Amino acid sequence: AVKVSGLVKDYGKQRVLNGVDLEVGAGEVAVIIGPSGSGKSTLLRCLNLLERPQSGDIVIEGKPLLHPAADLNAIRTEIGMVFQQFNLFPHLTAADNIALAPVRVRKRPKAEARARAIELLEMVGLPDKADVYPGSLSGGQAQRVAIARALAMEPRLMLFDEPTSALDPEMVGEVLAVMKRLAEGGMTMVVVTHEMGFAKEAGHRVIFMEQGAIVEEGPPSRLFTSPAKERTRSFLSKVL
Ligand code: ATP
Ligand code: MG
Repeated sequence: AVKVSGLVKDYGKQRVLNGVDLEVGAGEVAVIIGPSGSGKSTLLRCLNLLERPQSGDIVIEGKPLLHPAADLNAIRTEIGMVFQQFNLFPHLTAADNIALAPVRVRKRPKAEARARAIELLEMVGLPDKADVYPGSLSGGQAQRVAIARALAMEPRLMLFDEPTSALDPEMVGEVLAVMKRLAEGGMTMVVVTHEMGFAKEAGHRVIFMEQGAIVEEGPPSRLFTSPAKERTRSFLSKVL
């Protein structure tokens, strides 16, 4: 579970997050939508400790991230992140990409990490790609390997930042299908996406952000059909 309160993030003089409050329960799938520049990626980067906010609190699985004594490396291993660009290591096979962090960080035996990598590849629908290099994968396949790589660390929370935005349209579905399966399996997920179909089908809650703040949130069935705020309505009219 995630609890964010009063999160403020500035870049120089620009206030990018202006007091964000957000709770995501265990097993919940929260989908963040909003215009470009509204602070969606910055919020995820704060949750993942890639950015340090000016003020506010973030508690993940009961651990306060911004506490001076927080064990950031331990917390990081509990959070998986998938970006628009998959950032696989080009000189490592799919299985080695997935096994790398479990071996290096979690000190798992190599054979065990490889066996788990192959299980994860099966889970994302790529049972025959273990020994293939990223350069020989399609974008959709590479992104599914990236998801498997994040899952290999057994995270309690998965963050997705526009995971399908860089993909050719015919590959979007296969990545969303993996994410839906993960959601059905009870993973806690925060997903920034423009895929409103995914938000409707897999999201428990949709959060509309604008100018560094949450304007409105609610279950997709309500938010998409009868938004309470005019700004939400206006945004949705452009993307639905
Ligand atoms: P998009 O939909 O285009 O991905 P976003 O909602 O993810 O947008 P952010 O990337 O969080 O938006 O950016 C929010 C604001 O912060 C933007 O005005 C952006 O220019 C600014 N910003 C983001 N990262 C930095 C940075 N490293 N340094 C300075 N300004 C930044
Ligand atoms: Mg972004």
